[in-house]
Amino acid sequence: MKIGIVKESGDQRVALVPETISKLKALGVEVVFEKGAGAQSCYSDEDYQAVGAASLSRKDVFAQADLLITILPPDDTELDLLRKGSAVLSQFQPFIDGEVSNKLKSKELQGFSFDMIPRTTLAQSMDVLSSMASMAGYRAVLEAATHLPRYFPMMITAAGSIKPAKVLILGAGVAGLQAIATARRLGAMVEAFDTRQAAKEEVESLGAKFVEVEGAKDDKGAGGYAVQQSEEYLQRQRAEVQARAIKADVVITTAQVRGRKAPLLVPKETVEKMKPGAVIVDLASSTGGNCELTKDGEVISVHGVTIIGNSNLAGLMPQDASLLFSNNTLNFLKMLIKDGQINLDLGNEIIRGAFITGDSN
Ligand code: NAD
Repeated sequence: MKIGIVKESGDQRVALVPETISKLKALGVEVVFEKGAGAQSCYSDEDYQAVGAASLSRKDVFAQADLLITILPPDDTELDLLRKGSAVLSQFQPFIDGEVSNKLKSKELQGFSFDMIPRTTLAQSMDVLSSMASMAGYRAVLEAATHLPRYFPMMITAAGSIKPAKVLILGAGVAGLQAIATARRLGAMVEAFDTRQAAKEEVESLGAKFVEVEGAKDDKGAGGYAVQQSEEYLQRQRAEVQARAIKADVVITTAQVRGRKAPLLVPKETVEKMKPGAVIVDLASSTGGNCELTKDGEVISVHGVTIIGNSNLAGLMPQDASLLFSNNTLNFLKMLIKDGQINLDLGNEIIRGAFITGDSN
């Protein structure tokens, strides 16, 4: 069986790195790669060849792969280049693109989606969402520090004392927790909000203050994800956020509700009241943004506040992001592949979750 990887369109990462490919051999598979697939994440064609992967043109990778693995889903034209009966593993986000399962079925392709792997302890080693979110949380703080016209830590110098920066984090999931840890390491004072009560202990264990807005809807049974809150709750939350955002130097927003538009937590009026020089990093920009003024993929300045809209900050660290993505993929493939072939064991809840072209989809 041949596994294919290609150069991602519009992303510097690559789905499999050479180190992982050498471990894949134990599964009895071959790997073919598009020339230059890893170049932007600092993995050369020679590195791939050294572990026995064969370099091909992009078209030939599509034509020969029994299982194509990508970070971003291939477009329609590229799906047509795949052989009928072959499989694709990618981040299809079927909870957003409701048509994707039918599309793959109509092209007689088997689809597996990383983002449908259940977020259980057993599947943690395959969880690309967590790997990438954690990197994004780290990078968000570094981006904020770079744009902030101030220090993060408290400084006592002969020329005077500098107060530590105040950082407000909205959404204390994987990205938010890593942002808290990074901001704390840089010496900032950190406050964080989340609707999930479970986040309180984690926030406090990282040395940040947890800000509660009472009356959040119960998320038990949502598989670790948050549930959509009522407009009344969100209004109260926005008022609490505003009271803190106007004192903050940095606001990092990470709040997501899977399959829905991101909750609006920082309206225009809040931005207008923030300190000049303050920075907002909005990691939810691709799903509409937590800040009303965010522009996805852009850095803008409004009323002296810098707003960075970027949902793919992990992509700015492509070498490590690719390594982690690749390791997550390897762990999933160890479960999916048996004797060199895909073993579609739908009794396995991880495979059943990831398989998006089954009868139940
Ligand atoms: P996510 O990216 O879907 O959302 C980010 C955060 O935004 C979440 O913490 C969510 O509660 C929060 N949020 C949503 N609406 C909000 C609002 N109105 N105000 C403030 N915050 C809001 O979530 P995620 O980071 O991918 O993960 C969420 C949870 O799942 C975490 O508890 C995480 O530990 C858990 N998880 C478990 C596993 C596992 O067990 N294998 C793996 C990954 C994540």
